[in-house]
Amino acid sequence: MSRDLIPLSVPVIRGNEWRYVKQCLDTAWVSSVGSFVDRFERAVADRVGRAFGVATVNGTSALHVALQVAGIAPGDEVVVPALTFVSPANAVRYLGAFPVFVDVTDDHLQLDVAKLERFLRLQCQHRSGKLVNRATDRPVRALLPVHVLGHPVDMDPVLRLARQYDLVVVEDVAEGLGARYRGRPLGGHGLLACFSFNGNKIVTAGGGGMIVTDDGAVAQRCRYLTTQAKEDPVEYVHGEVGYNYRLTNVQAALGVAQLEMLDEYATAKRRIASRYRQGLAQVEHLTEVAEAEWAEATFWLYTVRLAPAVGRRASRDLLRFLASEGIESRPLWCPLHRLAPFRDCFSFEVEVADKAADEALSLPSSVDLTEAQQDRVIDAVRRFFAERER
Ligand SMILES: *Cc1c(COP(=O)(O)O)cnc(C)c1O
Repeated sequence: MSRDLIPLSVPVIRGNEWRYVKQCLDTAWVSSVGSFVDRFERAVADRVGRAFGVATVNGTSALHVALQVAGIAPGDEVVVPALTFVSPANAVRYLGAFPVFVDVTDDHLQLDVAKLERFLRLQCQHRSGKLVNRATDRPVRALLPVHVLGHPVDMDPVLRLARQYDLVVVEDVAEGLGARYRGRPLGGHGLLACFSFNGNKIVTAGGGGMIVTDDGAVAQRCRYLTTQAKEDPVEYVHGEVGYNYRLTNVQAALGVAQLEMLDEYATAKRRIASRYRQGLAQVEHLTEVAEAEWAEATFWLYTVRLAPAVGRRASRDLLRFLASEGIESRPLWCPLHRLAPFRDCFSFEVEVADKAADEALSLPSSVDLTEAQQDRVIDAVRRFFAERER
């Protein structure tokens, strides 16, 4: 049996990547403008049914600019789920605004819309036309649902609450490209949606990001801010403080080629998930983070939870056991309200995030994970539990 390391998730390059990158090199169109940037923007926007796409250097910068264009200002508050990658909370802080952490659901680990509703109804009040968090006296301005692990947030209630409370919605789809909510592609909701094409995402540009929107003026403003707020290209006149957040043509070329593979990759990830589900179904005290009835998930990272009966933070024992078997796995994120930069931010009824962070572990989920490799993972997980029982 092969003892090769089985990685958690690595890019798979087997489409038109070489061809498209070679075109950039052959023509010397390697930098921040070029036909692949335009093609990439069009392809991502089309894919999720949006009118406009604006490419950025990474997903975090996409969120930064999207929030700024959404009107988030210093001292505002933005609702962010407590259990996610740190990027969206950082983007809120870049603007001098503050994340407010709302819990996630126990079944799918997505933003808990029932708690969100309670936060808005019980914790906030209208004061001179503004919705204010009574604990902090700060205006609550936006909702930032993050579709984690390739699974959608329950978006209809989020959009309904946003309308009811006059909040702007910015979707973080960094982990959700290719997934659907009630048949609709993620990234098609809210004023703006942001993507990441980092190396560990379902498709990659090496690094990269994208903002999509249906509003032409909003798209134009995003483009303006990502290109140093340049107003006159000849005289170098800049209208405000902008950013150099542009994506290069070489990266976009990679991204275009990868995007052509998205359907195939999403199918592969769903197949991997269903094999894990079958292989691990009989393991007592092990559950998967399952798909909601309204979801078509990509299972970006297939994630399981170990019941407390197995031991406190037994997930970390499993992680070490798998590592000793040459199998890479990963816990979810440290809940954001626990992190030093966000400890003073307001959090609302957060319980599940802490519990899930203790219990969850993501298993190898690369698109080209072979059945033999996957059987090794399944066998190792089963042995871990069998030894634990004795
Ligand atoms: C990866 C990721 C991002 C940020 O993307 P980068 O391209 O790494 O900046 C944002 N949000 C979530 C949920 C992510 O997983």
